[in-house]
This record gives sequence, structure tokens and C-alpha cells, in this order.
Amino acid sequence: MTMDMTFLGTGSAYPSPHRGASALVLRTDGDCWLFDCGEGTQTQLMKSQLRAGRITKVFISHLHGDHLFGLPGLLCTVSLNTNPDPQSQQNQPCLDIYGPRGLRHFLRVTLGLTGSQLLFPYAVHELEPTPDQSPEEGQLSPEMTAEHGSLHPQEQLGRTISLDVSSDCYRLFEDKKFVVSAFRLFHRVPSFGFCIQEHDRPGRLKTEVLKELGVKPGPLYGRLKAGESVTLDSGRVVLPSEVLEEDIPGRKVCIFGDCSSVLGDGPLRLCSGADVLVHEATLGNEHREKAVDHGHSTPEMAAAVARSCGAQRLVLYHFSQRYKPCTLQKEGDEDDVSELKRQAEDALQDTGTQVTLAEDFLTLSIPLKKKR
Ligand SMILES: [Zn+2]
Ligand SMILES: [Zn+2]
Repeated sequence: MTMDMTFLGTGSAYPSPHRGASALVLRTDGDCWLFDCGEGTQTQLMKSQLRAGRITKVFISHLHGDHLFGLPGLLCTVSLNTNPDPQSQQNQPCLDIYGPRGLRHFLRVTLGLTGSQLLFPYAVHELEPTPDQSPEEGQLSPEMTAEHGSLHPQEQLGRTISLDVSSDCYRLFEDKKFVVSAFRLFHRVPSFGFCIQEHDRPGRLKTEVLKELGVKPGPLYGRLKAGESVTLDSGRVVLPSEVLEEDIPGRKVCIFGDCSSVLGDGPLRLCSGADVLVHEATLGNEHREKAVDHGHSTPEMAAAVARSCGAQRLVLYHFSQRYKPCTLQKEGDEDDVSELKRQAEDALQDTGTQVTLAEDFLTLSIPLKKKR
């Protein structure tokens, strides 16, 4: 299965002509999942190779506008491009949207007040933050998130997901390919990160052993590979464990929302051994105090997280708009974004972790693992 990630916006605070606001797409064999949806995400999508209509799930890390203002508009545009034939509308799958408490109310109000009807159903699955995820002024009062009135006409009932105290994370869902969880971060408002863990795949068949046992290539191979025992004509039972090499571990991708630190031990445990860890680095190390004041991280702080997780690759994004993309950087310009990469690399010198600077429209492929 192919897997890649495209950054649609790598800027913080607001979209600018050279950096879109936060959004990235994780694509696996045609399935597209959108992580954050800052203002202008739909035009960034149009400029990319991706198609907005392919998005099947949306994940919102926190309710700041630079991660959310693009969502109502994107939903409306996807709807405009949906087949209005009532027959095909009935078959439209539900768009699952995951995000902090308050997101359901936000969509109901923005779609409701603008009279926006969608040609597909959606559901908002809300994560319940804990009070220590932000300073007190960043917490939404129950009145602000209270859900008055009825559901939006196209809204289906979503789940409310609380922290699982034993694992210190939020179990969002599991499907045939992945287990997806969320974890807590500290920011000016409650923020979350997401961990996408691919299931392990069965190892390769030991053809030599199969030959010795007299198993002929064909359907029996498939059944053994699928984990089934088979009985040969001779009555001999062949167990998958006899003929399969060790499982090939699935890939792990971790996407952090805005934060100045993680909360609890869940995040580092969950993200341990990540193939790709995407972390914000809003300002350079020299602005650490300001970054932390605003609930953000520096490259050194992002590197410390990657180190604790033993991540293979650290991808930095969510840069202050003062950092122009490398391609627009001129001699003598202050605020050189490649300096942020150097700062993270310095902090990871003795590890094998590779550092990548995300830029708008960068696509990273995430190759299959070969072995443990
Ligand atoms: Zn932000
Ligand atoms: Zn934020």
C-alpha cells in the first residue's frame, strides 16, 4: 500500500501568498485524510494534485482559526461538486470529522447561519479535553459549546470521546488498515495530536519450508498468509507460524497540533518509534521565550520530542509568516527558514533522525518497512 503526505499549508497565524495556513493530507491508496483546515485550504487543494472530493475523514487539532477557518468553505465546495442526483445522494458516505469539543457547535452555527446545505452527510466526533491542556482563559465554558437546537439537516450524531485514562490517549477508530488515536498537548487552547498506526503485515512465506512440506503454490499459500492453518492430503496440519517469517511492522505517522509541550506520558509512548513525526516549529530557538508564551515550540523543542520518541524522521511545519520559503529567500534576509532545520539537526546530531522542512505542496512518501 502506498502512503504519502502532502503539506497544503505550512504557515502559522494566517494564510499568506507564500505560505498557506495549516493543512496537510495523508493519502493511502486513494483514501485522503485531511489534518487541519486553515483558511484557504480549498484553493491550496485546487493547486495541488489532490482532489477535495476524495477526502473521507477530517481531523482538527484545535479550534484556532489558522487550523479551522477553511472547513465550512471546503465542505460547501465539495458539496457543489457532488452529484445532485437524489439516487446518488443516498449513497453518499458520511464524512467523519474529529476534533475538540466545540467543533460540532462551530459547524452547526457557521453552516446554519449561512444557510449552507450539503449534498452529503457529516458527523463530528468530539474529543473531550482535560482542564490542564491550556491556561484557564483558553478553556471554553460549557455555555460556549452548548449545542442549542437541533442537528444541522445533514449532520449525523457523532461520538463524544473521552480520555482513556489507562492509556492516556483517545481511541478514535480502527479499520482494516489503521488504528487511529489522539493525544493531549498543551497550547493556548486545548490542542491534540494524532497517531496513525498501520496494522502489521504478515511476513513473507518461507517457500523452502513449504516445498519440503509438499505445499504447492496456489490458494493454500494465500490461506496460510492470511493466518489460517491448512490440512494437507496427508493429514498433516500446517500452521502459519511454521511457514511465515516474522510480521512486518506497520508504519506509524504522528501529527502534532500546536503546542509548547506534550501532556502526560501517553503522547511519547504512543508516538514511540514513529516513522514520521510532524511537529510545529513556529519560531527559532532564539525566540524560545516568546514561542512558549504563545503556546508554541522551537526546532530544539520539536527535536526533543522526536528524540524521546526515537522518530525516524522529524518534519517541521507551522512556521511564523516571518520565515519565507527557501525558494524566496534572498541573500542577507533575516529569518532564514533553513536555520530552523539546522537548529533541529544540531539537537539530533547523535541520533539517526532525519529532519525535513515542510513547504507548501511538498509531498513525502512514506515507504513500507522491511523488517523490525
Ligand atoms: Zn496555529
Ligand atoms: Zn494554535
